Order: sequence, then C-alpha cells, then structure tokens
Amino acid sequence: MNPALPSPGAAAQAFLARAHGHFIGGRWVAPLAGERFDVFDPGTGLKISTAAAGDAQDIDAAVAAARAAFTGPWAKFTAAERGKVLWKLADLVERHAQELIELEILDNGLPLPVAQYVVHHVVPDFFRYYAGWPTKIEGATIPAAPQGRRPGEVLSFTLREPLGVVGAITPWNAPLPMLMVKLAPALAAGCTLVLKPAELTPLTALRMAELCAEAGVPDGVVNVVTGLGETAGAALAAHPRVDKIAFTGSTEVGRLIVKAAVGNLKKVSLELGGKSPVIVFADAALEQVIPGAARACFFLQGQNCMAGTRLYVHEKVHDQVVAGVANIARSMQMGHGLDPASQFGPLISTEQRERVRGFVEAGRREGGELVCGGGVPSRPGYFFEPTVFARMRPDMTPVKSEIFGPVLCVQAFGDQDLERVAAEANDTIYGLSGSVWTRDIGLAMQMVRRIDSGQVSVNMHAALDPAMPFGGNKQSGWGREFGKEGLDSYLKTKGVSVAW
Ligand code: NAD
Repeated sequence: MNPALPSPGAAAQAFLARAHGHFIGGRWVAPLAGERFDVFDPGTGLKISTAAAGDAQDIDAAVAAARAAFTGPWAKFTAAERGKVLWKLADLVERHAQELIELEILDNGLPLPVAQYVVHHVVPDFFRYYAGWPTKIEGATIPAAPQGRRPGEVLSFTLREPLGVVGAITPWNAPLPMLMVKLAPALAAGCTLVLKPAELTPLTALRMAELCAEAGVPDGVVNVVTGLGETAGAALAAHPRVDKIAFTGSTEVGRLIVKAAVGNLKKVSLELGGKSPVIVFADAALEQVIPGAARACFFLQGQNCMAGTRLYVHEKVHDQVVAGVANIARSMQMGHGLDPASQFGPLISTEQRERVRGFVEAGRREGGELVCGGGVPSRPGYFFEPTVFARMRPDMTPVKSEIFGPVLCVQAFGDQDLERVAAEANDTIYGLSGSVWTRDIGLAMQMVRRIDSGQVSVNMHAALDPAMPFGGNKQSGWGREFGKEGLDSYLKTKGVSVAW
C-alpha cells in the first residue's frame, strides 16, 4: 500500500492478503499446477495480491462441478427460489459495498465516485432486474396438427429450458459489471457457470463467488477459475462439456473464441470492441454537449467499449466544442481512485499505456492537431493525460483504431454533409454505440436510422439500463445482453407434442 493514500478498510485488506485459489464446487482450491501470478494496483504500480494461474486441469475440474450442479441441486430450485437468490445477492453487494468498492478501485483503478456508483447502483439494480425474470420464463401452446392429428387429439407446447454450463470470459475494464451481465441472466435462466475473469483484474470475481454462496447459490453453480487468457480462457472456450461461451473482450480474441467453440459447436455470445461516433449538430445545447462529449470519451479513462472517441462537430460550433472539451480534459483531477478528489484514474497497465502512447504518436506524425494532453505525467501508476486531437481525417490511425484510452479525435462537418458524416460514422469495422446531439428530433431520428450500431442515444451517450438490450453490430459482437434478450441467450426452446 502507498502510505500517502487513504487505506482500504480491514475487510479489503484481509481479502488482499489471502493466498487466493480457484472457487470450484463451493470451496477454495489451490491451482493444480501450483502456478500463481501477481496482481497490481494500476494507480501505484505496486503489487497488491496474487492469484492462481489456472490451466486446462483446473478448468476441467470447474466444468465437472458446474455440470454436476446443473442436473443436481440447481435443477431442484423453483423459479421463485432462483429469483430470491438473485435478490439476496443484490442485498449482499450492498452490505459489502465498501469492501467491493475498494477492491474494484485497487484492481482496476477507477475513480471513487465511479466505483461507488457501480457498487451502490449498477450491480444491485442489475441483479434485482434479473431477480424478477425466473418466474416469467414461459413457453407457448402451439396450434399444431402433427401427423394428421385433429384438434383435441394432440397438445403441442414449448418449454424454455436453461442452456446448461456457461463459460463466462470477461475483460478488465469494468470487472464487476462485466461479471454481473453474465452471472445474473445465467442464474435467472437456471444455468451454471465457470467464470474466467481477466488476469489483470481477478479480485472482485473471487469475492463475488463467496457472496453467491452466501446468497444460497448451491455448490458448483458458480465457479471461478483465474488465469491467463491463452491457457485458462482458451481451455474454457474449447471445452467439450461447456454449452455456451459468453465472452466480452477484444474483437481479436472474439475470433479465437469462435474458432475454439467449433469443436462441440457450443453457443457463443460476443461483446467486442467499439469506436463510437458522437455527432453534434449546430443547434445542439452546447452546455450539455461539451460535458457530454468529454464524458463519452474520458469515462473510465477511455477504457470503455462504448467510448465516444470520434467526435463529429458541425463547423459553426466546432471551435467552441473543441475548446470546451479540452478545458474539461485539462481540468480533470488526475489521481488514485481511493483519493476522493480524483476524477480521472490510471490506465490498466504499462503495456496499455505504451499502446495508447503509440496511437498518439501516430496521430501527431499523420498531421493531427494536438489540442491538449498526449503525455505521461510524472507520477507513480499507469496514468496518461486525457488527449484531444482536432483536424483529424478519416484515414488517420487514431481515427480508425480502437485505442481503449483517453484519446478523442475531432472532425468538422458542414451543412451539406449529412450523408458524408453518416457514412464516416459507419466507416469502421465496429458498430457498438453512438450518439447524436441536436434539438431537431426529425434530424436526430434520421441519424438514428443511418448509424449502424447496437445502440444510439440522442442528447446523451452510452445510455445503459438493465432492461435495455445491449450489444454490437458488425465486428462489435454477436447477440445482445441486458433485458429479456439477455435472458433468452441463456435459454433453449424444446417443442413438445403429446398425443393420446
Ligand atoms: P481481451 O480480449 O484481451 O481479453 C478478454 C478476456 O479474454 C480476458 O479474460 C482474457 O484473459 C481472455 N482471453 C484472452 N485470450 C484468450 C484466448 N485465446 N481464449 C480465451 N480467452 C482469452 O480484452 P481486454 O483487453 O481484457 O478488454 C478490452 C477489450 O474488451 C476492448 O476491445 C473492449 O472494447 C472490449 N469490451 C467490450 C465490451 C462490450 O460490451 N462490447 C465491454 C467491455 C470491453
């Protein structure tokens, strides 16, 4: 721990001091090969804990536990009982909020107000939303007449059944929310899980496994195996007794997941990268646009799949918007997440910081105008300044690539450029998110229809809600999470016909 920072509470400290194992079959087990890896605080660069480096043998054990629980105790739970477990989990997150907030900050680096919002609101609200679903999972009666049967001679109906054992593989950029979006609907549907959190942020997943047990989830229903992507993750993705992989991460690894799933043709859902456009028309309310555009890009230090990193601004308001966003970028208080004054945290690792620095150098080399930021401050931890580039062109490297860092690329457009700006907004392999800012609702709706993304917001960016389907078009993913569609992705339909 850094003595200059507020200390985490006793609960978080005790958790960090543990020799973490995997959570398999309701108990802690040591990694079979005995390997471990270090966990670092990105805000200081200091080692804070270690985790078990799982491999194919550990994944095998976890999948066996999940399979036994799927047909065993979990199958005996009524829908109402599954709902109660999810509700209790939300209560437990609230009860242990301070510890989870501190662990999430130390693991991932997010600023205190963001961690507080996530743990007090986002996670419990999500679990409670899905707590309502198990009792509403219904099939249908079908007016079928198979094999010449007449009405009254046959009853045809559908059953909605849980898919089975789910392998959930999650990224580091928002560890708890990424876990929650898979855990909650999978439990609501009656599936069991093997979770493989990102190796850079394994801590809160381990703590959540214990809270699941405390909430009444039977042994083996939720298993957590920590470890590297290319070993533990790859073994899970390829495992022949896993029925579905729910993956969130990069588009590149998403492709590997699809290949690995081919062996047993398991179902795959993918939440992948993004490069989202923010389109500002001249009539927009600039007092909302300027903080909105800054937040769209700099939230989570730009390490956010929905980050609005391509800002298209009408030429009439271009200079004002660029100056306003740059002012916010310069004034954001950079600091460790445990420091209550901090508004802007570190990147996740030195590798990530070097990657971001490389994109900024490319932007400079290719002729972008660096309005602010672009540097590495001299302080411990993996910090990088919030950066604004103006006068960018569509062919420039930082405009085309998902940087996953705090780098905003601004381009101007004129009155006649509606088609061009829509085409440029869509000129990317990604299609995750986007926003349009204007008071003209007709114009907004025209743009909403033109943008090829899983979600588009008007006069706000990244509008998320547990009930609202979320997912990517094009190479941003397969399928939808959140809402009823998220639940459906953990269910399968069985058609039944009964003759007598
Ligand atoms: P990543 O793809 O490197 O890793 C994600 C997870 O996959 C990690 O748990 C990792 O260990 C695992 N993994 C790596 N190689 C693997 C392999 N060969 N087989 C199986 N698993 C493997 O992504 P990241 O760097 O952790 O996260 C950043 C990326 O995630 C960005 O591209 C971002 O856009 C994306 N993301 C998308 C969403 C969304 O909802 N669409 C949300 C958050 C992050």
